[in-house]
Amino acid sequence: MTGTRWLAEYAWLPDHAEPTPDVLIETADGRITAVTPLAGDDGAPTAGVEVLADAERLPGLTLPGLANAHSHAFHRALRGRTHGGRGDFWTWRDRMYAVAARLDPDSYLALARAVYAEMALAGITCVGEFHYLHHNPDGTPYADPNAMGEALVEAAAHAGIRITLLDTCYLTATVDGQPLTEPQRRFGDGDALRWAERVAAFTPAGDHARVGAAIHSVRAVPAGQLATVANWADRRGAPLHVHLSEQPAENDACRAVHGRTPTRLLADHGALGPHTTAVHATHLTSGDLTLLGDAGTGVCLCPTTERDLADGIGPARRMADVGLPLSLGSDSHAVVDLFEEARAVELDERLRTRRRGHFGAAELRDAATVGGHAALGWRDAGRIAVGARADLVTVRLDSPRTAGVPPVGVWFAAGAADVAQVVVDGRTVVRDGRHLTVDVPAELTAAIEEVTR
Ligand SMILES: [Zn+2]
Repeated sequence: MTGTRWLAEYAWLPDHAEPTPDVLIETADGRITAVTPLAGDDGAPTAGVEVLADAERLPGLTLPGLANAHSHAFHRALRGRTHGGRGDFWTWRDRMYAVAARLDPDSYLALARAVYAEMALAGITCVGEFHYLHHNPDGTPYADPNAMGEALVEAAAHAGIRITLLDTCYLTATVDGQPLTEPQRRFGDGDALRWAERVAAFTPAGDHARVGAAIHSVRAVPAGQLATVANWADRRGAPLHVHLSEQPAENDACRAVHGRTPTRLLADHGALGPHTTAVHATHLTSGDLTLLGDAGTGVCLCPTTERDLADGIGPARRMADVGLPLSLGSDSHAVVDLFEEARAVELDERLRTRRRGHFGAAELRDAATVGGHAALGWRDAGRIAVGARADLVTVRLDSPRTAGVPPVGVWFAAGAADVAQVVVDGRTVVRDGRHLTVDVPAELTAAIEEVTR
C-alpha cells in the first residue's frame, strides 16, 4: 500500500464551523486513512510537525472535493454568444439546439474533455452530466446506442474527474404530448420502456463513472411514463434527477393539462424520494415545498444559470428550513465556479429579502461538497475524514482576491482561478493552477470552433 502524506496549512474538516490550521492528511489507495490536526489548543505547532519533511505541503485552505451536480457539457460552447439581443430562456434554447445539432461522439468527446478539465481547474472532482444527446440528429440510434454517453464517460476520465451520467428520458416537446421535432429528435427513445432498455445496456468503462437516471422535465416525459423512469432508478438505488419548475410557463402548462403543479405530478407518479434531486425548483408553491420535504428530495440550485437566463430566484432558505438537502450546479456553464454558485445562494436571498445572513459558511461548503456528491450517488465523498475518497482541493490564500481574507471567508472571496491544487481519488490532477494533462484554453478554443463555425 503506497501512502501519501499531505500537510495542509488549513483544512476544513466536517462538523467544524471554521477551517483548522496545520492538518496532516494521510491517503492510500484513493482513500483518506488519517486526519491529524497538529496545532495545540493554543494554536502553536505540536512536536510532530518538524518530522514531516516527507509530507507534501498544501499552502492555503484545503477543502473536500467540490461536486458539480448539474451539467450539460455542450452548453459551454454558448458562453458569451447569446447576449446580442434581448431574448429569453426560449430564444436561448434555440441557440443551444443549434450547437446540439452539430455534435457527434468524436466532437462531443473533444468538447466535454475540455469542459471537464475546466471543471477540474475549478476544484470540481465529480460532475453530474444530465445527458440527453443520445442519437443521430434525425433520431436514429448510433451503431452503439450509448456512444454519446460513452464519449462523456471517457471525457471525464481524460479530465481526471468522476462522473455520474444522468441518462435522461426525453420523449415529448410539450406538457400536452406534442412529438419531438427536428432539433429535439435526437433526444428521444420513443417511449420510457425503450429508454430503460437502452440505459440498462450501458455499462460505463472505468471506476470513475456511474449511471443515474433523469426525467428531463414534465414537458418531456408524459405523466403515464414517469413511473417507468422512477422505478428504473429506484430498483438500482441510482440517483434520479429532474428539471423542476424552472419557468412559470412550465407550471402554467402543467396545471392546464394535469390540473396540478409539476411537483405534485411527480409525487403522484412516484418520482419523488430520497434519491431524487429536483434541479432549479425556482417557482414552487408552499404545497410543493411540503411535498419535497416529506419525500426527502434534494434540490440542486444553479444560481449563475438562473441569473443568466432570467429564470428567477428559488426559495433556498425555505428549502433548507424544510430539510431539503441542497447541492449546486453550473448547468449551462455561463460560469464554471462553485464558489460563485455557493455565494449566490446567500446573495440572491439577500437581494430578495433585503436582509443579510441567511446561510452560514459551513452550509454553503456542504452544498458545494458533500451535498453534491450525495446527490450524484457518491456518498463516500465530499468530506475530509477517514475512509472518505481522497479528494483534496486547495485554494490559495495569497491571491489578489484572497490575500488578507480569513480562511472561513473563502466562499465570499475566492473564485475558480484561486484553486491551486486538486487531488481526485488520491491522484493529483491540477498542480500550481495547471491541469496536468489537458491544455484547457487551447482545447476549449478548438472544440468550440468545431461546433459553432
Ligand atoms: Zn439543466
